[in-house]
Amino acid sequence: MTEITSLSLFELIKNIKEKKISSNEVTKSFIDRSEKSKKLNAYVTENFENCLKLSKEFDYKPNFDLKLPGIPIAVKDLFCTNEVRTTAGSNILNNFVPSYESTVTQNIWNEGGILLGKLNCDEFAMGSSNETSFFGNVQNPIAKNLVPGGSSGGSSSALAANLTPITIGTDTGGSIRQPASFTGTVGLKPTYGSCSRYGIVAFASSLDQAGPMSKDVKDSSILLEVISSFDKKDSTSIDFQRNNYSSELTRNIKGIKIGIPKEYRVDGMPSEIENLWKKGIEYAKDCGAEIIDISLPHTSYALPTYYIVAPAEASSNLARYDGVKYGLRSSGESLIDMYEKTRSEGFGEEVKRRIMIGTYVLSSGYYDAYYLKAQKVRQLIKKDFDEAYNKVDAILTPSTPSSAFKIGEKSNDPVSMYLNDIFTVPVNLAGLPAISIPAGTDKNNYPLGLQIIGKPFDEQTVLNIAYSMEEKINYKNNITDWWMK
Ligand code: GLN
Repeated sequence: MTEITSLSLFELIKNIKEKKISSNEVTKSFIDRSEKSKKLNAYVTENFENCLKLSKEFDYKPNFDLKLPGIPIAVKDLFCTNEVRTTAGSNILNNFVPSYESTVTQNIWNEGGILLGKLNCDEFAMGSSNETSFFGNVQNPIAKNLVPGGSSGGSSSALAANLTPITIGTDTGGSIRQPASFTGTVGLKPTYGSCSRYGIVAFASSLDQAGPMSKDVKDSSILLEVISSFDKKDSTSIDFQRNNYSSELTRNIKGIKIGIPKEYRVDGMPSEIENLWKKGIEYAKDCGAEIIDISLPHTSYALPTYYIVAPAEASSNLARYDGVKYGLRSSGESLIDMYEKTRSEGFGEEVKRRIMIGTYVLSSGYYDAYYLKAQKVRQLIKKDFDEAYNKVDAILTPSTPSSAFKIGEKSNDPVSMYLNDIFTVPVNLAGLPAISIPAGTDKNNYPLGLQIIGKPFDEQTVLNIAYSMEEKINYKNNITDWWMK
């Protein structure tokens, strides 16, 4: 039999329901592999003992009607987990143990999922390579010394290395889709307001959204069905009719109109990415889709807009870490001194940079010139998509402008790091759903992803297109387990 850890979520559920394997066996397999994979540095906090205990309890009294029956799942360390340390990858929350549970994780436990551990991420989800984490960088299982993407880099690494069957990440400007693209996995950012933000450590509140990461599209549809819910505890949560994403999943996308935005053909785009995109268009046609050229004229303003809006909101959200209410407290001679020492010792470089940019663009005299202007441009970007969606049902683009880069290659050059988000941030600014699916490799055999962007609340179409293209692409990750040798 194939190794348990390489089974898809769908197959695991099937085997558990048919009593071919127990939850405890599944849990043991993932723990065993995780124990042997410490070199990847994917975990910040392990919950192995407790997970084993809960899996035994599940087996003793199984409930096969649940959507995730006894499935062990590791999650990004940005989701607050009751009585389990939650760090957001930061020193300032190094000793933070929440007394409440995020809605998204609660939804998972309610359906039978069991917490395997908390996965590494960029500090406060700020980054594209998982190098800003206080807990050190994460290795991409694809090859040695390669970044796994960010900020959900622990999640993408653990998933691609088969340390967890599925996982969840958060995506403020690409942090689910970009790491998925870098590790040959699937990552879906739902429409803003689909998945509750309650209990997720806030980065930029108008952009943050949780979503599934999985080995294939079907698994993402199963997980989305579990995590997407209306939640009164989140004032931005939206009450709309959610689909049964997994049972409504279909490969029949005949006649669906897919837009190709010319503005995504950016200057200096590597030919590998260009070719991947061309191939993607052919795959989509093979699936029965109709391809239509479209224009999203304000695309080039998305990145600068994002890097004003996101730091502005971050600087405000992070004001709460003052040594009084949460986590770390450094000693100081006065209250102000204590605040200053706590924040300078507790936050890393990138977070400080964002706080400074954010405070600057919000300060009087600059507010109109930067923040307000950025908000206006954000509206124009949103309008571009609205207009495009009068003509098409979805949009196809590359997920990232390159494959995974080497650890350290961009860490001293924030602008080149920010450029990584060029294809993902417009989606967050407009609040849309989008998925990244593995679609090919570059010259080094590193994975490359394609992104499918949908209409608001139309995750089903996004999933259906991804599901049919996935079958045609037939991508397989080539993981050699190098870190275990
Ligand atoms: N890489 C982007 C940033 O650093 C996006 C991060 C995210 O989506 N959380 O802000």
